[in-house]
Amino acid sequence: MNNVYNFAAGPAQLPEAVLRRAQDELSDNRRRGISVLEMSHDSREFSTVIKSAEASLRELMNIPQNYKVLFLQGGATTQFAAIPLNLLSERRTADYVITGQSSRNAYLQAKKYGDIAIAASSAGASPAFSTVPETTRADFRPDADYVHICYNNTVYGTKFNYVPDTGNIPLVANMSSSILSEPVDVTKFALIYASAQKNIAPAGMTVVIVRDDLIGNARPETPFMLDYKLHADSRSMYNTPPVYQIYMAKLMFDWILSVGGLDEMKRRNERKASLLYDYLDSQHYYTAPVDKKCRSMTNVIFITGDAKLDTKFAKEADRAGLKNLKGHSSVGGMRASLYNSMTEQGVAALVDFMKHFAEDNPKLGA
Ligand code: PMP
Repeated sequence: MNNVYNFAAGPAQLPEAVLRRAQDELSDNRRRGISVLEMSHDSREFSTVIKSAEASLRELMNIPQNYKVLFLQGGATTQFAAIPLNLLSERRTADYVITGQSSRNAYLQAKKYGDIAIAASSAGASPAFSTVPETTRADFRPDADYVHICYNNTVYGTKFNYVPDTGNIPLVANMSSSILSEPVDVTKFALIYASAQKNIAPAGMTVVIVRDDLIGNARPETPFMLDYKLHADSRSMYNTPPVYQIYMAKLMFDWILSVGGLDEMKRRNERKASLLYDYLDSQHYYTAPVDKKCRSMTNVIFITGDAKLDTKFAKEADRAGLKNLKGHSSVGGMRASLYNSMTEQGVAALVDFMKHFAEDNPKLGA
């Protein structure tokens, strides 16, 4: 187990300490009668779990009281519909910044519900989406109901290195692949959402952090299951919530708090990302195709420039215990996801493997 490192973009590896605690508590509670897998969401025990998960997340991210925290069924993709349905007013206008696959999908989904504009895009960059556009307030329509961004782009390995200035327009951010990797100023956002399977818990849940003045005006056609007011009023218990994911999220939040919170996560993540990017910048065998200013700390993309070598790399790395390094099918190459649970040893092992692979597989003509 110790020599296997899982670089998957999500579902991703979980910290060893969290997995161990989940395992111990599962069998402990089972011996006493009911484990968390079997627990009613209406039980006193589960109420303690969800309250504690919310309290720990609030503490970690310094979430102000005028924001609701919702633990919802499903993935971030479900929120692509929930956001316009809850936030569009009678004007039904919203502006989207397109920086990759998720933001494009969010935009296409929102278009079903209103007059949705592309305020800025990095589709035309070379390679496509290898940077994040710089936006100013003038890029957004003054009457837009909200502006949507994807803060960290899992597929393309880029991240906003600034928070767009949208003036009074509510800013909505998909933080699925960067949440809890470093501190963020929640007050700069009207709504933050993140699916669990990267940095929070197993797949099947999405966390929505939403300013309370945005709740309660859902479009009449909004399905109950997507209505933030129903979920907020029932503290995420409107229907059966994803109980195990909420429990795992609580363990994850408590683990982060126990090791020093988001400042410590940032310190660790910067060290891991530097280890890999510094190596990439020091040699010519691999290329990191992303604009240096917008490099993601959590999803690092690199290529050899030869598709066959890329395939060989991912296969041999897998055999060496470095799992899931194949890049996303729309980008190719390799992608190393370095979420909170990836250790510095894991990244060091990857860099070591990269050096040996480059030595053992000289490129023709090089
Ligand atoms: N947004 C981002 C940034 C993602 O990385 C992903 C999944 N890779 C999604 C949205 C889609 O999330 P889900 O699979 O949870 O619907």
